[in-house]
Amino acid sequence: MKTIQYIEPLFRPPSEANSLIFQITNGCSWNKCAFCEMYTAPQKKFSTKKEELVFEEIEIAATTHPETRRIFLADGDAMALSTRRLLAIMQHIQKHFSSINRISAYCLPRNVKNKSVNELKELKDAGLGLVYVGAESGDDELLRLINKGETLASTVDSLHKLHSADIKASVMVLNGLGGNLFTEQHAQNSARLVNESQPHYLSTLVLSFPLGETRFLSHFPANFKLLDQNELFHEMDVFLQHTELNNTIFRSDHASNYLSLKGVLGKDKEKLLAKLHLAQTSPEKAHLRKEWQRGL
Ligand code: SF4
Repeated sequence: MKTIQYIEPLFRPPSEANSLIFQITNGCSWNKCAFCEMYTAPQKKFSTKKEELVFEEIEIAATTHPETRRIFLADGDAMALSTRRLLAIMQHIQKHFSSINRISAYCLPRNVKNKSVNELKELKDAGLGLVYVGAESGDDELLRLINKGETLASTVDSLHKLHSADIKASVMVLNGLGGNLFTEQHAQNSARLVNESQPHYLSTLVLSFPLGETRFLSHFPANFKLLDQNELFHEMDVFLQHTELNNTIFRSDHASNYLSLKGVLGKDKEKLLAKLHLAQTSPEKAHLRKEWQRGL
């Protein structure tokens, strides 16, 4: 019997652990961010899966997992596909599964740039309920240095467009990205980014390098240093202090974080800041993850 084909490694957000995954594209069409090692293996060079093959996999999965409710479209850049192709895939999903309540995908801000709000609304109507946007930072100088290919303005514009189409966004910010030289501006401008976009979800991950940090450091001046644990907490502290969010579900509980934080911003802001202060002043009382417990 035919099965769904994946080109490994396959990444998905932690909150998609129970979703069925269709890998409609492979790798990332940008693939230039200084910190990102997700798609550096030769087999992860960006490509798109043939439409007939995607359709076939949807039909196979509909017979093996008919009860599926959530679907994640991989890889890092599935939204790079044209609206026509995305719509065709989502309509095929809706045709073959009867209980889908959410389709989601990673989404680079540039993926949205060439899609109109009306096109995004069509995608929403076809089931696209949530996209994960790796903003990483709101600081333009840092975004340039890490080769993100985006700016504060381009990310905020895309988030506004998604909001207009009623597609929820989960924004990711990288704790530690600014190192010793850019930490304050990274924290403050990342708060600005989320304040201006008011995302539905916000998460922070700690910058980590399972394959080594040499490539990342080569993008920075020689006196650039990665942050230690306490400096990471301080950066989070500055970031959270500057947030002015109305109703954003905040999660900083990815396994890369030393301190797990969860709440709704702004109502839980003071509570979260108090946890961060405790982690900085009395780490032994703050239930921190040990180094070996962190997953990258
Ligand atoms: S856009 Fe995302 S997936 Fe692509 S290289 Fe940058 S961080 Fe990695």
